[in-house]
Amino acid sequence: MTPTSSSNTYRCGLVWFRRDLRAQDQAALHHALSQCQQVHCMFVFDTDILNDLPKVDRRVEFLRESLVELDAALRSLSPQGAGGLIVVHGRAADAVPQLAVELGAQAVFANHDDEPQALLRDAQVRTRLAAAGQAFHTFKDHMILERSEVLTQSGTAYSVFTPYKNAWLRRADPQALAELPVEPLAHRLAPVPANRRRAVPTLAELGFEPAGLSALKLPTGSSGGQALFKDFLERIDRYEDTRNFPAVKGPSYLSVHLRFGTISPRLLARTALGRAQSGSAGASVWLGELIWRDFYFQILHHHPHVVERSFKPAYDAIEWETGAHAQELFAAWCDGRTGYPLVDAAMAQINQTGYMHNRLRMVVASFLVKDLGIDWRWGERYFARQLNDFDLAANNGGWQWASSSGCDAQPYFRIFNPVSQSQKFDPEGKFIRRYLPQLAALPTPALHAPWAARPLDLQAAGITLGQQYPAPVVDHDTARQKTLQRYAVVKQAVA
Ligand code: FAD
Repeated sequence: MTPTSSSNTYRCGLVWFRRDLRAQDQAALHHALSQCQQVHCMFVFDTDILNDLPKVDRRVEFLRESLVELDAALRSLSPQGAGGLIVVHGRAADAVPQLAVELGAQAVFANHDDEPQALLRDAQVRTRLAAAGQAFHTFKDHMILERSEVLTQSGTAYSVFTPYKNAWLRRADPQALAELPVEPLAHRLAPVPANRRRAVPTLAELGFEPAGLSALKLPTGSSGGQALFKDFLERIDRYEDTRNFPAVKGPSYLSVHLRFGTISPRLLARTALGRAQSGSAGASVWLGELIWRDFYFQILHHHPHVVERSFKPAYDAIEWETGAHAQELFAAWCDGRTGYPLVDAAMAQINQTGYMHNRLRMVVASFLVKDLGIDWRWGERYFARQLNDFDLAANNGGWQWASSSGCDAQPYFRIFNPVSQSQKFDPEGKFIRRYLPQLAALPTPALHAPWAARPLDLQAAGITLGQQYPAPVVDHDTARQKTLQRYAVVKQAVA
């Protein structure tokens, strides 16, 4: 496309929002405003994605609420408030090129989305746009450092976290963390054409039902992300000491906002790095978590086979439990009926809220794979359906870590004991009591392993195992031995 003015490349551009739902520090929006005289904005409720979701889905509600806020933000930034978001309900691969033609946009601007399905979709969009003589420009925004930005000295991808982190810290200079401003060029936001001026579709119009987000007190949109971050900054210095205790308000709860881009990862990293450099150990550990996020995304980029298979091929030789009994054990795990209170309380948390504390994700993942002998991919799929913050790269990385099949994973012979994890990380049983009220009256020591409780304590708490609360579905010590045998194929393959 030939330039139409000396200061800008294009007369008209279109920004396609995806997992970057904010109007500040947004790469595609910033670059479109810098390169175009007029900029339209769009979002597609993609039927290729929505059609596979259950009709009650917290993420669709989160997304919808966040779009309402984004639309309002774009409107208030635009001249005479005439701008805003054009929201389409259809196949993105068709809707984006169609709208680009309709608006006379010479280029479409979007941010990278490196999940395999998204890459395929983007390739289709790029081809369609090119056929119409329109450009497709994409930018880094979801990650702080992505793809091949952090490589070893020999130019290969890292597969061990600590050297990756050290290299990341060297590479994350002020330029990489700098804000990409929107406001100074917002006068280039184009008015929404009259035929496209419409409110963001309601859940019902999209074919969904409310999922009860407001009852969960999960704040949506950029304002929600900013509010959570402000709240977290009050306690970031204590993060290292609090982050492992699910009953304590330790982590940031920002994962869903990072997932949908309602907060800028650069803002988070910039702030954390600044606090870390001023001596905050908590901020330094938290920055490390943001680096884990980049780490798993670059693993997905360089090793896309992890979507289907183990990062370490030897682990694909493991024989997992199958058949009716495995299905029953899996259903008990999904429903929080394993008889191990910390595991069951954690599953209640994900089922009721769509969030699960990181320590508990590790505990329940280990339990599924190493106590129940079930393929980590079953758990990965269940998490993908339930988690508000589901991100393929982080979820896959977490599951492969727990099953020991991943890069820099937990060694296979390290098997979490669900009772000692409970005693250590929920010592007063506050988290268990919150999610398993039927056990609340048990004395705390008995809460971690009700089957070992004194009959009198069970009776006084009104519990008969198998009635109000299940007996354990497996014996941990026996399961542990079985797992070590199951994983012997790995040792043989590696030796
Ligand atoms: P904080 O402790 O405040 O951490 C800040 C941010 O750092 C998080 O929001 C997240 O973006 C990132 N982060 C933290 N820990 C990790 C990690 N281990 N790997 C990658 N990024 C991390 N995280 C997801 O965002 N999406 C997932 O689908 C997901 N699935 C997981 C599955 C398993 C089995 C495990 C063990 C972990 C998974 N995680 C996932 C990582 C982690 O549990 C969550 O990011 C974290 O619990 C979110 O809570 P928070 O925002 O309060 O985290």
